Amino acid sequence: MNTEPPGVEIIAGAPVYARDGEGTMVSLPYRRRSENGVVTLLGVVNLRFNIVLPEPPPSGNASLPLGLLVAMAAGLPLRMETPVSPLLLENCDRFQEIHQCFFPDETIVPIRAEATAGTQAAPALGVGSFLSNGVDSLHSILDHRDEITHFIFIIGFDIWLKHSEYAARALTQARETATKLGRPLIVVETNVFDFSHHYIPWPRDGHLVQASIGFLLSPLLGKIIQALDFSYLHFATGPEHPHLYEALCSEDFHIQPSCGKYTRQQKVRRLCQSPEWLPHLRVCWDMPEDRLNCGKCEKCLRTMIGLSIEGASALCPVLPELKPEAVAQLTYSSKSFPFYYDMLEAAEQSPHVSQELLRALRACVHRHQLEDLARKMLPLRHQLTATRRYQQFEKKLRDPLFSLLQRIDEVWLWKKLRRHAADFREDIRKVLRKSHKPLLKQGLRQAWLAKARALFRRKSS
Ligand SMILES: [Zn+2]
Repeated sequence: MNTEPPGVEIIAGAPVYARDGEGTMVSLPYRRRSENGVVTLLGVVNLRFNIVLPEPPPSGNASLPLGLLVAMAAGLPLRMETPVSPLLLENCDRFQEIHQCFFPDETIVPIRAEATAGTQAAPALGVGSFLSNGVDSLHSILDHRDEITHFIFIIGFDIWLKHSEYAARALTQARETATKLGRPLIVVETNVFDFSHHYIPWPRDGHLVQASIGFLLSPLLGKIIQALDFSYLHFATGPEHPHLYEALCSEDFHIQPSCGKYTRQQKVRRLCQSPEWLPHLRVCWDMPEDRLNCGKCEKCLRTMIGLSIEGASALCPVLPELKPEAVAQLTYSSKSFPFYYDMLEAAEQSPHVSQELLRALRACVHRHQLEDLARKMLPLRHQLTATRRYQQFEKKLRDPLFSLLQRIDEVWLWKKLRRHAADFREDIRKVLRKSHKPLLKQGLRQAWLAKARALFRRKSS
């Protein structure tokens, strides 16, 4: 028992259960105690299940994940009002360490909680699977269809509550998938986004909401399968990291990260080999008004490229035909790089990809590699600008040089650096070596590195 006197802290209250029509509403209250001892309500996260949930012995497991992230964001200790699983409590240190690696703005905080006593019940026999109908989620059915007993569909996180029409369409589609496999669909509606976006940048809290839902369903499901976005090869660098899921477990419940051995393109290929799932795909993040996939956003286009590589676009009526010009103009974040390297590699080998699409995909990947490289060169700009040669640059060239490094234009840069490159050749080589090392095993990266080196030698000699 923690006897430390209360100070400024975040307080995670006990989950409150209430019957709500045919289902159950569970409320997770979060409060903050200030310096003068006044306790104010930060917010209440409501989770409405379409089934009657058995109320387990008092446990704070479901309140802990979000409370911990709010406390880490605020840099304040977390006090749990209800006892928590000893295993979960033990794992919280590891969870915080990993989370802080990705998000250094967060603080590792102490947790003031009692551990639940007594012998734990054996885990329930049910096995859940989070279902969004995206590539990862449908693909995990291929590997786990025999063990899955329930599907879980969440509204209020990646689909916001206010987009009720889109949510209804997505739900209908999820029901069709569950019905096709003869498994019940547990629907959870939550206002978590309304609460969390005040305290935690979206989407850091996705896995935590899933863990809270998992703990609440633990009398029914001993584990829930969660399809990973990234393969272990491109080890996820963010809140989807498999170790984070593994840390959020108790004696009677855990989330099993799944399908990490497949890259995204391998998953698309396997889905195309079981094409009955393709009409069920919902990948869009834009929540369009009149359909499930907009066909224009990065996620839709990424999936359309993947299907084209497999020659399966015609088998997927829920996504439009891919236009190469859309690919050439496509922009994506550095987090998505592995998806595109992977697709370009597959496209180079594919008999289904037109030269036009291949050119567009190459241009799109190349542009992002250059931008990535420029971003990685930025920390070296002080060394670069300190060289004697740099001082000889015309002023009008010096100023835009590094702002242009961010939105790098290859031809422009090499042309401008040509006469002055000798002074910072080593620095640039260092960046090239460092930034490309993790992906050197990929032929594409090696080819690009060789090309960049040759180009640099030629330009600077
Ligand atoms: Zn879309």
